[in-house]
Amino acid sequence: MSAVAVVRDIERPSILFGPPAAPKRATGPTLEQMMSGTWSELARRASAACPMCGGRLQARWGAGPSPVAGRCEDCGTELT
Ligand SMILES: [Zn+2]
Repeated sequence: MSAVAVVRDIERPSILFGPPAAPKRATGPTLEQMMSGTWSELARRASAACPMCGGRLQARWGAGPSPVAGRCEDCGTELT
């Protein structure tokens, strides 16, 4: 048990207040929503904001009408 946990238990004993509240969940988009948005932006505009650094993600095209990958010009992150 860490010192912080001990202090928390002393300040707010669970016998009186119940178990500590679960950590608050993030309310932003899920990873799936973020990646889906990035892919559709890539398909629409041939570039999108890099999910890692916010830089410019450039679409790479195959034979089909949709991009097959994207590569960030700033940090080198690749979406495939
Ligand atoms: Zn990037």
